[in-house]
Amino acid sequence: MSVLTIRESGKKVLATGAEAFARGALEACIGFFATYPGTPASGVGDSIAEIQKELGGLYFEYSMNEKIATEGAIGAAWGGVRAMAAMKLAGLNVAADSLFTLNRGEVKGLVIVHGSDPGQQSSGTEQDNRFYAPFMHFPVLQPSSVQEAKDFVIKAFELSERFTLPFIVDAPSALLHGSGELELGVLPQSFPATGKLRPHFEKTVHDINLGRPGRHKVLLKREREIKSYATNSDLNRVIEGDANWGIITCGMAFGYAMEALDILGLKDVPVLKLGMVYPLSPDCIGKFLKGLKRVIIVEEGEGFLEGLIKAIAYDLGLKVPLVGKKWISPVGMLSPSRVAVDLSKGLGLPLPSQFKNLPAEFIEDTERLAGSLALPSGGSIPMPLFDAPRRVRTFCVGCPHRAAAYAIKKATKGKLIVGTDIGCYAMMEGPPFHLGDFKICMGGGIGAAQGLSRKIHDAPVIAFIGDSTLFHAGLPAVLNAAYYDANVLLMVFDNRWTAMTGHQPTPSTEETIDGKPLRNVDIAKLLRGLGVKWVRMVKPFEPGKMEGVVKQALKRPGFKAIVAQGECTLQSERRKRAQGAKPEVTYHIDTKKCKICDICFVDFGCPAIVVRQAEDGSDTYVIDPGVCAQCGACVRVCPFGAIVASTGGRKSDEAL
Ligand code: SF4
Ligand code: SF4
Repeated sequence: MSVLTIRESGKKVLATGAEAFARGALEACIGFFATYPGTPASGVGDSIAEIQKELGGLYFEYSMNEKIATEGAIGAAWGGVRAMAAMKLAGLNVAADSLFTLNRGEVKGLVIVHGSDPGQQSSGTEQDNRFYAPFMHFPVLQPSSVQEAKDFVIKAFELSERFTLPFIVDAPSALLHGSGELELGVLPQSFPATGKLRPHFEKTVHDINLGRPGRHKVLLKREREIKSYATNSDLNRVIEGDANWGIITCGMAFGYAMEALDILGLKDVPVLKLGMVYPLSPDCIGKFLKGLKRVIIVEEGEGFLEGLIKAIAYDLGLKVPLVGKKWISPVGMLSPSRVAVDLSKGLGLPLPSQFKNLPAEFIEDTERLAGSLALPSGGSIPMPLFDAPRRVRTFCVGCPHRAAAYAIKKATKGKLIVGTDIGCYAMMEGPPFHLGDFKICMGGGIGAAQGLSRKIHDAPVIAFIGDSTLFHAGLPAVLNAAYYDANVLLMVFDNRWTAMTGHQPTPSTEETIDGKPLRNVDIAKLLRGLGVKWVRMVKPFEPGKMEGVVKQALKRPGFKAIVAQGECTLQSERRKRAQGAKPEVTYHIDTKKCKICDICFVDFGCPAIVVRQAEDGSDTYVIDPGVCAQCGACVRVCPFGAIVASTGGRKSDEAL
């Protein structure tokens, strides 16, 4: 049973952070939830999607992008229901366009859950999005535990209604993916299927329209009111201590700092834990700073709090020394050990014995090591992170993208420039294919490829994009490229799912969230509708044919597109297994024909093809039947006909 549907108020359960954010939204009785799936925040939406059918009245959607998700939530909130949009780190950049204007207006009951990612566990960049807060003038809450994730969401809705602004709740990857105890509250019996236009709606729409000069003044006034509220808010609390120096912290860094103090045997240090990190109350900060000889600001990311607190101290005329990023690394994810090392170094305290085997560079250069998985040159480290074996990112067994990459590599002989994008296919940039010269952001590859093609003429320029990314941000760029007829080949890898973030449906998926059959979007027709004159469909598991089509495309000047359509094998396999289907074709390598040319193993790189020792002691290649996904692509890859379908039923060529 999902944590989200338990109706026993007061019950304590084990929940992930993602479930806690979602549970908070449900206990707050939302009527609208929208998200674009993106790690680390995708679990919030996925948790709600799983049980959405059971919750009559609640509208849920995987929107085409974060801007649309946010705008949908804004509209629903204007329509009188509490609304939430959830997004990944880079998603806030996409939604920012709408949010920067909305701040001049009024909206009640709107909460944005933002998945931050210190250490770039899954993100293309490591940006500290809290810096958006003073720019947008939006309040930001940073929970420190699974319990706070739920409680802060509920609080954020209350405060959004009180101050008529959206509240952003930060959801870091460590919290979203971690688990902890969660005390459940009351789950509403029903969720609002219909709203009522908020009384302020008329004023909002006309006044903001959108961002009349007078509204700026109103925005700043509201910010002052929130600052005043923050002075005595229970979102911020002090852990008392007798030491003459203290710590100000927030979010996940709070737990790390408390453990670090424990590691260092420092039991009486006063700590100010900020739950609302923007705006800060000068009274609250000033009260804590007064009387202390030094205050250390422990936060993940860059010195966001540090800058704000230093400005407050300056305005209040407080001379207390404030230390932040000079000691605590601005890069990567913090941990209790890392904070303990940073504090011991700064404070000149000895580290306890379990740290004595740390390599010197860890202690002396935490900034360089922070966020890096590089193995140190020597010494044993008491952290499993550094002991994990390294492995190369690769496609799943039977992935259509591997076959497509092989075909493109063969067709171009590696002489090409590839603008890749965000999705599974971006792994083509690694070995053995090395297809990916630049990657910017969702949909960014097509736009940059257009510009590049205007000035570079000695190699074909190819833009890669997946189906979900195409819908998210690629379509305007396709329209532009087609309209101006850029000399670019667009490769759309249509695997029918937003696979990389957990197989959420997209308009090319042939079923809805709850598994109902759906008439999906025909990407080839869509491209033609946008003005692309030459569009071809290929099946990646037929790499020979695909190679021919790519060669044909590259002979044509101007903008053209190939749609490589092959469903994500994980999904098709799951469906076959659920239906109890057994493989109709199995594959093996005929060792008499195999020339050990390495093509299937090295150039193609399917993980189901492995090295075994033959009876005479020599190495030979075999297909591991327990791993093989029966995609059949390797049959066409082997130039010697050594890979064969070994049973009756479908021929390998028809395996798709
Ligand atoms: S591609 Fe064919 S010949 Fe070459 S190693 Fe693989 S099975 Fe053997
Ligand atoms: S059929 Fe060949 S390419 Fe496909 S999964 Fe099996 S071994 Fe790999």
